[in-house]
Amino acid sequence: MTAADDLAMRRALALAAEAASANEIPVGAVVLDADGRIVAEGRNHREATHDPTGHAEVDVLRRAAASVGSWNLEGHTLVVTLEPCIMCAGAILQARIGRVVFGAWDDKAGAAGSMYDVLRDRRLPYRAEVVGGVEADAATALLRAFFEQRR
Ligand SMILES: [Zn+2]
Repeated sequence: MTAADDLAMRRALALAAEAASANEIPVGAVVLDADGRIVAEGRNHREATHDPTGHAEVDVLRRAAASVGSWNLEGHTLVVTLEPCIMCAGAILQARIGRVVFGAWDDKAGAAGSMYDVLRDRRLPYRAEVVGGVEADAATALLRAFFEQRR
């Protein structure tokens, strides 16, 4: 974990809170370049866009690729408030993201170490370094408040 990761996670948490305000499950994400600068921000927008792939990670990968001008995001870091699901882990590898920092563990659908470990599966041609549990309490609190309010 670097100082840039820490700042990025705080930004991702703010984006997650923004999602909650828009009645979306609160998950936020940012992509950092090799120097730790934020190149793109994203959040969950599945309800508003009626898009089953509208997770924060897919959103931020699309924006980062557009900003960089390439689908290949080698050397970049993706920072997200919740452990990526199988779909997002797949998208992260497709983008050649080399490093993933995430907040809360998702023991029901996580694919970065809890349920599956897609990002570090040695059978795949590309893998990513994973740092999990960063600011996990803050990410979990956002999710818990969101679902409690909906009950
Ligand atoms: Zn996902």
